[in-house]
Amino acid sequence: MRRQLLFTPGPLTTSDDVRAAMGHDVGSRDAEFTTIVQTVRAALVDLVAPGHPDRYCAVLLPGSGTYALEATIGTCVPDDGRLLVVVNGAYGERMRLIAERLRVPHAVLTVSDHLTVEPDALGAALDADPAVTHVAVVHCETTTGLLNPLAALAAVTRARSITLIVDAMSSFGALPIDMDALGVHYLVASSNKCLEGVPGLSLVVADRRLLQARRGRARSFSLDLAAQLQALDADGQFRFTPPTHVVLALARALADLDDEGGVLARGARYARNQRVLAAGLTAIGLETYLPAERQSPIITTFLTPPPPFDFERFYERLHTRGFVIYPGKLTTADTFRVGSIGQLYEGDMLALVEAMHAVLRDMGVALQPT
Ligand SMILES: *Cc1c(COP(=O)(O)O)cnc(C)c1O
Repeated sequence: MRRQLLFTPGPLTTSDDVRAAMGHDVGSRDAEFTTIVQTVRAALVDLVAPGHPDRYCAVLLPGSGTYALEATIGTCVPDDGRLLVVVNGAYGERMRLIAERLRVPHAVLTVSDHLTVEPDALGAALDADPAVTHVAVVHCETTTGLLNPLAALAAVTRARSITLIVDAMSSFGALPIDMDALGVHYLVASSNKCLEGVPGLSLVVADRRLLQARRGRARSFSLDLAAQLQALDADGQFRFTPPTHVVLALARALADLDDEGGVLARGARYARNQRVLAAGLTAIGLETYLPAERQSPIITTFLTPPPPFDFERFYERLHTRGFVIYPGKLTTADTFRVGSIGQLYEGDMLALVEAMHAVLRDMGVALQPT
C-alpha cells in the first residue's frame, strides 16, 4: 500500500518507530505494561505541570478525545455547580452538547468563530452569572485553527476562584502550557494529535485534590474519571480492558517528543510547517480564513476557490498523489483545512503545495497568484 501523508488534525502521520512499538502483545496486568502506564502518566504531568508531580495527576481512558471531555465534564461539575461553556467553534459547541446531554447545569458564552474569546468578554459573562463554578474553554479551536488566549482567560477564572477545564486536544505537546502557573484544573487531550501517538487513548491531567473530591459522583459508570484515577493509582491498571498497543505507542511517542527537544522544539517545527504552507498557498492565490495573528501553528483553514473548484475532486486527486487533507467545518464559509502537525516537515509541506498547485491547474481553477 502506498504511504499516505495525513495533513489532518488527527489521526495524523506517525513515525515508523511509534507504529513498530505496537508490534507485540502485552497483558494488562503484566508488570511490563503497568510500569509503562505509570511512566506515561508521569511524563504527561511533567509536560504540563512541571515540578508538581503530586499536585497534578494524569488519567488515561480508552477512546478518542471526546470521551475524556465527556468524562471530565460528567465527573467534575457537581449537581449544584454551574458550568460556563465558551463556544467559538465546533469543539466548544461539542462541550456544550455534552453538558446538555448529561444535564450538567450550564450557561454558554458564544463568540464568532473567526474571533478569539477575549478575557473582558469572559469576565463580563461571569459577572452577569455569579453562580458559575466551572468554565470550559477550547485552547486551539481545530474547527478553524484559531488560538484562544489561554493565559489571559485563565487569569480571569483564577481571580474568581473558578475551576477551569481546557480542551487542549490539538495543542497539548506542541504549545507550552503550565497548568500550575496559569491556574488550569483539568486539561484534556488525546494520544493522536501533537503527541504523535496512534488514536485510541484519551487523557486528562487534573488537579489531584479536586478530582479525588469527586469520587463516587460521576454521571457515567464507564466515563468516571475519579474511579479511573483510583484504579490507575492503585496498580497502573485500567478499570476495564486497556488499549495496550496504543499505550505502548504513546510511550514511544513521548520518548520521541523528548528526543525532538520537547514541546518548544515540536511547536517550532509545526510553526515552520504552517508558515511554509500558508506562504506557499497564498502565493498561488489561495486565501486563509483567519488573519495571521489569530492563526495557530496546528491547522489552517483556506477559503475554497471559485468554480470549477470542487472539493471532492480536489481531495481525490490529492489522495491519489499520497496527500490527505481535510474538509472545512464551517457553516458560514466554504473552506478546506490543512494540518501542519504529525510527522510532517517543511519538505512535506512544499510537496503538498506543489501538488495542490498542479491539481488546481488540472481542474482549470483560475487563481490570482500574489
Ligand atoms: C480532535 C479534537 C477533539 C476530540 O475529537 P475526537 O474526534 O473525539 O478525537 C476535541 N477538541 C478539539 C479541539 C480537537 O481538536
